[in-house]
Amino acid sequence: MITLSGIEKSFGETVVLKGIDVTISEGSVTALVGPSGGGKSTLLRCINLLEVPERGSLTLGSETIRFEPGRRPSSESVQKLRRQTGMVFQNFQLFPHQTAIGNVMEGLVTVLKWPKDKARLRAMELLEKVGMAHKAEAWPATLSGGQQQRVAIARALAPSPRVLLCDEPTSALDPELSEEVVDVLSRLAQEGTTMVMATHDLRLASRVAGQVLFLDGGTIAESGPPSAIFGAPQKERTKRFIASLG
Ligand code: ATP
Ligand code: MG
Repeated sequence: MITLSGIEKSFGETVVLKGIDVTISEGSVTALVGPSGGGKSTLLRCINLLEVPERGSLTLGSETIRFEPGRRPSSESVQKLRRQTGMVFQNFQLFPHQTAIGNVMEGLVTVLKWPKDKARLRAMELLEKVGMAHKAEAWPATLSGGQQQRVAIARALAPSPRVLLCDEPTSALDPELSEEVVDVLSRLAQEGTTMVMATHDLRLASRVAGQVLFLDGGTIAESGPPSAIFGAPQKERTKRFIASLG
């Protein structure tokens, strides 16, 4: 279970998150949608503490951190919490000088100090899961965007995080390549992988998410299952946003 409670985050004068409360249950998929600049990425980055909120608290499994203005949580607690998360970015961010399997093994070997043989087995399992085992020895530059993203997903899952965070995982892909990434994420969802994803891709959100949070102006303006948020939004702001997506 992940609980965000009263999360507030500003950058200088700009208040980006104005007291966000969210509960994410184990095995669920949550999609963050909303206008550009609404704080989706910032909220994701608050879950793995790439950004530290000024106020509120975050619970991930048995770890809880309470935030106070001007006080950074200890690097120990940040590390403990961050290790329970995996992150997938819009532009993949694979290590260019490592093969596909090298990318998936990297964290296991350097951070978790796994022996290489064991890391290789685990990495191969994950590459199989995302349909990339046949490209295990390929360099990132020789892979399509969809293939790179699937390797990035395998890499994020390697240390068995409690939650997979995805920031616009399909935005850099044309529809066909996006489809193969949606297929992988959908399969992971069916297997019970807990995920939180920021996305403009309503097809992805509808297919994969159980709950959709509409984030606007630093608050959750509306939330519910995809059918409700996309099919019958209640608030004017949500209606206009959904309509604007066509
Ligand atoms: P998009 O749909 O375009 O990805 P988003 O919903 O992910 O938007 P965020 O990237 O979270 O929005 O940005 C929310 C606000 O916070 C924006 O006004 C942005 O300019 C600001 N912001 C984000 N990161 C920083 C930062 N490191 N420094 C200063 N301002 C930032
Ligand atoms: Mg964003």
